[in-house]
Amino acid sequence: MRASKMFLNTLREAPSEAEIPSHILLLRTGMISKLVSGVYGFLPLGIRSLQKIETIIREEMDAIGAQEVLMSALQPAELWQESGRWYAYGPEMWRLKDRNDREFCLGPTHEEIFTDTVRTRVSSYRQLPLSLYQIQHKYRDEARPRFGLMRSREFIMKDNYSFDRDKAGLDKSYQDNYDAYSKIFTRCGLDFRPVEADSGAIGGSNSHEFCALAGSGEEEIVYCDACGMAATSERAAFRDAAFADEELLPLEKKLTPGTKTIEDVCAFLGLPQEKSIKALLFQYFDPEDPNAEMQYAACFIRGDRQLNKTKLINALGLPDYAVSFADEEKMGFATGCVGGFTGPMGLHDCLIIADSELVNAKNMCAGACEADHHYINVNYGRDYKADKVVDLKLLQEGDPCPVCGKPVKTARGIEVGQVFKLGTKYSAAMNCVYRDENMNEIPMEMGCYGIGVTRTLAAIVEQHHDENGIIWPVSVAPYHVMLVAINTKDETQMSLAEDIYKKLLAAGVEVVLDDRDERAGVKFKDADLLGFPIRITVGKTAADGKVEYKLRRGGDMELIDADEAVRRAAELVNSERRG
Ligand code: ATP
Ligand code: MG
Repeated sequence: MRASKMFLNTLREAPSEAEIPSHILLLRTGMISKLVSGVYGFLPLGIRSLQKIETIIREEMDAIGAQEVLMSALQPAELWQESGRWYAYGPEMWRLKDRNDREFCLGPTHEEIFTDTVRTRVSSYRQLPLSLYQIQHKYRDEARPRFGLMRSREFIMKDNYSFDRDKAGLDKSYQDNYDAYSKIFTRCGLDFRPVEADSGAIGGSNSHEFCALAGSGEEEIVYCDACGMAATSERAAFRDAAFADEELLPLEKKLTPGTKTIEDVCAFLGLPQEKSIKALLFQYFDPEDPNAEMQYAACFIRGDRQLNKTKLINALGLPDYAVSFADEEKMGFATGCVGGFTGPMGLHDCLIIADSELVNAKNMCAGACEADHHYINVNYGRDYKADKVVDLKLLQEGDPCPVCGKPVKTARGIEVGQVFKLGTKYSAAMNCVYRDENMNEIPMEMGCYGIGVTRTLAAIVEQHHDENGIIWPVSVAPYHVMLVAINTKDETQMSLAEDIYKKLLAAGVEVVLDDRDERAGVKFKDADLLGFPIRITVGKTAADGKVEYKLRRGGDMELIDADEAVRRAAELVNSERRG
């Protein structure tokens, strides 16, 4: 490709809304173009990298025996009603109607469609296992689209669905996909970590997320160097503290004027925060019943802990959007809670959820559901009981590892992929069954496996850049070589550049010849910004057949023979192309 003919759209500055490096650089290099918030197009350089990622994914999916298909993004509501997710999915789902008022959505994911495709075509154990995947656009009306391709409303996903006869088959499919994901992200040049994850709205039992490590990542992961435990902080279990065997003291109400926070009340009463109980108040509704009234839940955890909302919504068995912080005034009226002074005693008409740690905690301090008053020596069982007792805590840096007890560490990451064991959640609901050797009808064991293809592109840039631009890994670079001709009017320079260009192409190296009539400084700036792995510069030394050879990732600029530059470039590309 010649730069003079290329639809090249580099920008000196990124639009101000771009905050993180990948968003800034994908815009500045002209790889993507924004249409509206969370909706992007791909320009020539962008599509080349995207297609390379897709090729890597296809190769690794095909290698585990998955077969490619392409399903429609437009999906009829009926299938989602059958699985029970038409309401559970909530406002992220892009719903629409046809001219006859029939309801559809633009698929946020495809479990229902694949389950339907398989149930109508597979009936015998002989046809299983089966694994089908696609690379296709998904639509999610995200509450906060941001960071460019990281969280967009239209994005490309690779989604694979496995159908097995039994649990052992599912275990193997899951492991095959897990291993394929490790290969895919390694080949994409990502520094990533598979971590245990919550299965969220998709459902099922077992799940791992693949997180590309990056400070800008929206996912927090907790891990333990001692035993290897790694999970999203949403998912990580919490090891309850052991409590000293104290004698239960008599319950006592104390006047605690104006002490609305845990810090205030503990300071006022001279108690450590781990001796206090904090209340977090939520409202929720049943998404399947649009007319249902708002209901309330009061959650209690130790004063020095943080609440993990994912654990709460799992305990309630509701989707995320159906649960929110309570309107304190309305809730006070309905349940008797008092802002800043709510405790587990004195509430009515609300679900009480206690964190598991409180069951054995002795002589705690808690709000008295009365302005300016707290109780001390509150004990679970004797003074209050909860409707549900569950682990509600967020595992944080330094907390004991739930597996081995050593302090955990935290890091941030970008969720580039997730694998799920669905079991029979969809096959049972949608009657996706096969007949075994004895003609018994058995629901298929399903798994699903997603990769955010466009998010992966952003994650690669997030990990591979410097202040001047992108530094592409060879495997996903839009082109391998930027061949800069310094003076396009100089015949010696141009004929050597043309010669190198032809030889690189013949060697299978993807090259852009910068033959634009621009100053050298502009060309070098663009070369750094675009970040192709190798730069070959043809300048004044062309008369001696010498060119400058430089790697974008660093190292010295070398003056070498043109043929040697071609040889080195071909060698580097061929050794690293497969990542
Ligand atoms: P998140 O928690 O980030 O919202 P998710 O867990 O809802 O993502 P999945 O349903 O697991 O996403 O989708 C599979 C993959 O699709 C994710 O691992 C992620 O890489 C990608 N993905 C999901 N939502 C988006 C989005 N809004 N923009 C870009 N990629 C996305
Ligand atoms: Mg996910």
